[in-house]
Amino acid sequence: MNKRVVLVGAGHAHLHLLKNVASLIRLRSDVTIVAPDDFWYSGMATAMLAGLVSPDEVRVEIASLVAGTGAVFCRASMIGLDKDAREVVLDNGQRLAFDLLSLNLGSRPPPLPAQGQVVYSVKPVRSLVELRRRIEQAWQSPGSDVLRVAIVGGGVTGVEVAANLRALADLHRQRMQISIYNRSEPLKQLPHGAAAALLRHVRRSGIEVRWPVTVTMAGEGGVHFDDGTSDDCDVVISATGLVPPDLTRRLGLPTSGDGALVVDEYLRSAGDALIFAAGDCVAFDGFSLPRVGVYAVRQAPVLLANLCATLCDTPLTEFAPQRRFLSIIGLGHTSALMQRGPLWFKGPPALWLKRWIDHRFVEGYRT
Ligand SMILES: Cc1cc2nc3c(=O)[nH]c(=O)nc-3n(C[C@H](O)[C@H](O)[C@H](O)COP(=O)(O)OP(=O)(O)OC[C@H]3O[C@@H](n4cnc5c(N)ncnc54)[C@H](O)[C@@H]3O)c2cc1C
Repeated sequence: MNKRVVLVGAGHAHLHLLKNVASLIRLRSDVTIVAPDDFWYSGMATAMLAGLVSPDEVRVEIASLVAGTGAVFCRASMIGLDKDAREVVLDNGQRLAFDLLSLNLGSRPPPLPAQGQVVYSVKPVRSLVELRRRIEQAWQSPGSDVLRVAIVGGGVTGVEVAANLRALADLHRQRMQISIYNRSEPLKQLPHGAAAALLRHVRRSGIEVRWPVTVTMAGEGGVHFDDGTSDDCDVVISATGLVPPDLTRRLGLPTSGDGALVVDEYLRSAGDALIFAAGDCVAFDGFSLPRVGVYAVRQAPVLLANLCATLCDTPLTEFAPQRRFLSIIGLGHTSALMQRGPLWFKGPPALWLKRWIDHRFVEGYRT
């Protein structure tokens, strides 16, 4: 009987597995991919927000990727795991039996308490697609007021979203008031010079950066702070860092402090040798990696090799994370800041490089 391989989550790591699914199927396995949605590429999410690319250019259709391969796409969300029965529980009532399971569940900002206000989070990317649609619709109504946008979180993502919203407003010749709120000094994870250059850029674009300030709630018409005061706004965006989805804590598998699934150097769960995991939803025993797509992409070939090795009962391959990675922060239509370790550069060539890398990545998965 064929082995049942179930992949949950259409993230960066599983995208590679799906492209190379023939290597699993060749080993007498039936492969099912479970995901509620297509793959949305976060690397181009802010370019989409700025109006540089369309939402469709940021999306890879899973049905097209698996068409004709023999793998099955099950459009659903996983809501639980029955470890004893070896079944994945889905939100459509289905239970999927597995011999080998791989989880690539991604991450999202922790939920921001909200009352009477829609909060757009920076992930899933579809939320940013909806945000752009809402803003463009608001601009279509005659005599629309200046849109006031509050971004909660002054890390790299919050700043990148702010700069690209400004670019969207410029593209439409509209006015937008953008404020970033941060609990502590913004952009602390960057080298000092790079952080200063980014802050200069956003301030010159008329974006207000306020810190130290703690937003406790998004209420009707504004954001509320822990000192009892509030600011008026029309749109609230949550960019308060990325954590694994709550589901990871409910699987009965070992997790780290923020809910990441603990895996060994072979990307196997520390609690079950037939359950693998990769990307933002994992942590290694004793350390975790920054939540950037680069690691999910680098883990993908190791994950594929180890699923194949487990099916054939051959030795597994170790994942050795790189210490440094290139990160490019898009700043709208003309510029970007790229950084690797202590080195950084800001200017149009950084944006050209980002566009080239991002388009090459997405095109690699289009059929
Ligand atoms: C605005 C923004 C820009 C970014 N830009 C960059 C960048 O330029 N470069 C970079 O390296 N990193 C970037 N990142 C970080 C990057 O998004 C993540 O590190 C990366 O997405 C992690 O990939 P992943 O494979 O772990 O998960 P993801 O690619 O996020 O995929 C997770 C998948 O799991 C699915 N899923 C979740 N829960 C369930 C469930 N219960 N059942 C079934 N499926 C489920 C989701 O639908 C999704 O398809 C950015 C992040 C943001 C927010």
